[in-house]
Amino acid sequence: MRTVEHEGSPPAVHRGIVPGYVLARLARSTVFPRAAEAARQTLIAGRPPFRARIDLSIDAAGNLIAELSDAPLRTVSDAQNTEQLPGAVVRAEDDAPVADVAVNEAFDGLGATFELLLAAFARNSLNDAGAPLEATVHYGVDYDNAFWDGRRMVFGDGDGEVFRGFTGSLSVIGHELGHGVVQHTAGLEYQGQPGALNESIADVIGALTEQYARGETADAASWLIGEDILTDAVQGRALRSMIEPGTAYDDDELGRDPQPGHMRDFVVTADDNGGVHINSGIPNRAFALTARALGGNAWKRAGLVWYRALTGGLTATATFADFAAATIAAAAEQYGGNSEVADAVRDAWTSVGVTEDERNRAG
Ligand SMILES: [Zn+2]
Repeated sequence: MRTVEHEGSPPAVHRGIVPGYVLARLARSTVFPRAAEAARQTLIAGRPPFRARIDLSIDAAGNLIAELSDAPLRTVSDAQNTEQLPGAVVRAEDDAPVADVAVNEAFDGLGATFELLLAAFARNSLNDAGAPLEATVHYGVDYDNAFWDGRRMVFGDGDGEVFRGFTGSLSVIGHELGHGVVQHTAGLEYQGQPGALNESIADVIGALTEQYARGETADAASWLIGEDILTDAVQGRALRSMIEPGTAYDDDELGRDPQPGHMRDFVVTADDNGGVHINSGIPNRAFALTARALGGNAWKRAGLVWYRALTGGLTATATFADFAAATIAAAAEQYGGNSEVADAVRDAWTSVGVTEDERNRAG
């Protein structure tokens, strides 16, 4: 057994599920005073120092160990409303459920993501080598976010007025762990188009985690991210809609969902790391359209194509067009260039304006 040290990409930025622009807007709310104060505190607290080094133990030769590791190894800790990580361990892999619902939800969410990765992609945890899955709940006071810090999932309780706790949403948990998968594969930089791809792939893994756990088809799925985290006081269904970007919420206090669903509406901005949570709507819609066109369970064909593109040599600075080309190549390799799958992938990227319509190009 040898121990290797893996350099995580050093994000100088907040990767929470709730974008900074939403919190900034909420911080000015007079209608929701508790949420406004919580948003201000969440913005001030930001995120804890990023753990840039991650220790992984890899057995170079043992097949037996590789098999044994094909089961999740989960630990949930409780920060007890402080911002100290990791907090006290409250549930380990072999422990029975505890009284604290947030602990059990986090535990189950980690397991659901592990199951999706294994069943759909034969991937053994985030690093494909059985990395332990760790989470901390009750981070901070009224903390309005959930994030992946490069090593663990961290959940705030939400302010209760606008945001409920974040452990109740499988798409949020799958999204954050999806960042862990990206970190261990293409390592997409968190800025501009590659950053929006990073966000989008995290949303894909989040949506697929929820759909797999529910046994949902692409047609039946909501394609919403964070469907369960907004309170009834908010005019909105979720944080994002993958199938209809820009329609997730429209609220006097929260503002309007700014996501585009087509390249003609691409948002050029210095905010949000160049719009990583905004322009992710474009590749998100390409994925949802592909899955809807193919029907059945999205993780089986559309999901596999996206995963192969992510893990097939994609660079850290890939653009939308690079990723579109990678998915088209992955579909052709897996199913044939003239297959229904390859056609669906090509059509989807054309529909969102990332690739040209071949008929127009010919004319
Ligand atoms: Zn994210």
